[in-house]
Amino acid sequence: MSMSLIRAPYLDPSADALLAGTASPRKALFLDRDGVININHGYVHTPANTDWVPGIFELVADAQARGHACIVVTNQAGIGRGMYDEAAFLAYTAWMHAQFAARGTPLLATYWCPHHPEEGLGDYRVACECRKPRPGMLLDAAARFDVDMRASWMIGDKATDLEAAAAAGVEQRHLLQDDAGIADLNRLFAAMAGR
Ligand SMILES: [Mg+2]
Ligand SMILES: [Zn+2]
Repeated sequence: MSMSLIRAPYLDPSADALLAGTASPRKALFLDRDGVININHGYVHTPANTDWVPGIFELVADAQARGHACIVVTNQAGIGRGMYDEAAFLAYTAWMHAQFAARGTPLLATYWCPHHPEEGLGDYRVACECRKPRPGMLLDAAARFDVDMRASWMIGDKATDLEAAAAAGVEQRHLLQDDAGIADLNRLFAAMAGR
């Protein structure tokens, strides 16, 4: 038996208040990061290289109004590949969370997997349980935050995002199919509502 490789999530400074404000078990909106929150320019890890996906702040606000806690789950093989380190990633993640908090729509937490099974350097080269499409990050979130996965949603831009969510028991899964962003919020929520 090996120790879990899953990293503790980055918790928003308001996490305790967010958790206190939602009934348990709670509904989550799980969000992939690159291609869902920020436009995927490739290994984004600086504010200067960050462009928001159109509609993302409205999406998070709407989900929160529906009682969902918003949790990011992101593969960050750029760490394992040596393109940026964990400290740089966490500093950037704190900045990203602050951007949401400043708009009144704080994210609860960001899960991140720094590994890659073939391209990782040193200890980062491992077939971990956290890298999507494996469900480790979502399962950890379910236990840590007491999430009702059947009442939760996942939005991703790759099939592997939705595979991870399906393996973790998230029933409502939506794939963003193009660069237009979250252009039709009403249709998205109509497809995912009623839960
Ligand atoms: Mg993505
Ligand atoms: Zn991992």
